[in-house]
Amino acid sequence: MALADIVERIHAEEARTGREPGSTRLIAVSKVQPVGRVEAVLQEGHRLFGENKVQEAAGKWPALRQRFDGVKLHLIGPLQTNKVRQAMQLFDAIETLDRPKLARTLARLMGELGPCPKLYVQVNTGQEPQKAGVMPGDADGFIAECRELGLPVVGLMCIPPLDEEPSLHFALLAKIAARNGLAGLSMGMSGDFERAIAQGATSVRVGSAIFGERVYG
Ligand SMILES: *Cc1c(COP(=O)(O)O)cnc(C)c1O
Repeated sequence: MALADIVERIHAEEARTGREPGSTRLIAVSKVQPVGRVEAVLQEGHRLFGENKVQEAAGKWPALRQRFDGVKLHLIGPLQTNKVRQAMQLFDAIETLDRPKLARTLARLMGELGPCPKLYVQVNTGQEPQKAGVMPGDADGFIAECRELGLPVVGLMCIPPLDEEPSLHFALLAKIAARNGLAGLSMGMSGDFERAIAQGATSVRVGSAIFGERVYG
């Protein structure tokens, strides 16, 4: 089964690179997947999932959470300010904190809704104009700003450019995290999660290699 294969490959890469066994968490990215495939992975005992749209996750996960205990959900796609309230109620972590306005909205609602999900700052390591994330040069300042607001920032997240060696981007993300005292590194997808582990990923986000190609309807 694909899930077991990926878990096995994660363990092998941890061993090969001298990482502590079990130090990389696997986020199964279930966006756009038919619910039957998601159920199969839940049935195998996996509990950590990633979704990239608030609306889609809200339509799918409340029912699955009633049937399966202990599900943890990470938001890995862009978050609009008007969906923050819903996202805070649905997700255990938000990995796409990428602008001051979003930080301020989270801080304001944190007082009202209780504990804030764990937060990752998304860094646009490739400085791509069309991609979300703070620029590498702005990351230290933005992280400091989030901390001043009292936000629970636990790590960084990146999506490297498609046409560049991802290891360079993973290394840059690890460097920014280290100098800011952040332990969490969410990086690596189906095609490059082993390279991310070699650079210190604490979670990898794997979709198609677990579930098969995404089915867009
Ligand atoms: C879809 C997605 C993934 C998973 O991609 P695969 O190539 O299917 O593993 C990981 N991270 C983010 C942010 C995504 O949107």
